[in-house]
Amino acid sequence: SLKGKTAIITGSNSGIGLGVARELARAGADVVLNSFTDRDEDHALAEALGREFGVGARYIRADMSKGEDCRALIGQAGVCDILVNNAGIQHVEPIDSFPVETWDRIIAINLSSAFHTTAAALPLMRKAGWGRIVNIASAHGLTASPFKSAYVSAKHGVVGFTKVTALETAEEPITANAICPGYVLTPLVEAQIPDQMKVHNMDRETVIREVMLTRQPSKQFATVEQLGGTAVFLCSEAAAQITGTTISVDGGWTAL
Ligand code: NAD
Repeated sequence: SLKGKTAIITGSNSGIGLGVARELARAGADVVLNSFTDRDEDHALAEALGREFGVGARYIRADMSKGEDCRALIGQAGVCDILVNNAGIQHVEPIDSFPVETWDRIIAINLSSAFHTTAAALPLMRKAGWGRIVNIASAHGLTASPFKSAYVSAKHGVVGFTKVTALETAEEPITANAICPGYVLTPLVEAQIPDQMKVHNMDRETVIREVMLTRQPSKQFATVEQLGGTAVFLCSEAAAQITGTTISVDGGWTAL
């Protein structure tokens, strides 16, 4: 059980982040939800989650595109036994027309945020004498696709950063690993479907089967519950010697 541990999950008011937060709470951890929105429903979501699983749960606003916000999130929580770097955005466009500000934003949210939160969380983990860092990378942290230059670069960066974090904590009771999901049907993926339909000139069903899931041999989307379960495993005693590596949850994508 993760009772008594506090988990901070960045970008967790929807999709994979929320799924991971739910599974960590189910396993007994207190959770801190985050996004940049700070709406009433964000706070209500945390309250409902806390009630459902009988754990402490709160929401802290922080914009993961800003280094000082990333660090303030950890500082405001005051304790961080489990850090899940999940916040991420996508943009699909060829390199020669890829907007510069979108490149910078993707690198900031998908990669640099993990540097800032990890830098702020490590002293707290060292003080507590235990820590787990779970970075949500992607199959695109291990392989590439056209039109996703910033995303693929950031996710490869996350995998590299995860290895360095593991080496710097290797002799301590702290681990750092990356989960590499294939396609999971979340709002982020939903939003890519129209772009992909345009780029490939296909209808929705064809784009899902032949473009999105071509590289996912199982022909099924992974679920947020499966990703949450993988994160819970990485926080367990069984995973204490698993560090500096990636776990793919991709229906066979990276076996191809
Ligand atoms: P999503 O759009 O459902 O969720 C993204 C989350 O990030 C939301 O909670 C959003 O509020 C938050 N967020 C975005 N910008 C932020 C900012 N500036 N500051 C704070 N929070 C911010 O997307 P998702 O599919 O759940 O993606 C979550 C992570 O999983 C991302 O890192 C993504 O790259 C990764 N991933 C997703 C898939 C997939 O198929 N869905 C596959 C591989 C990896």
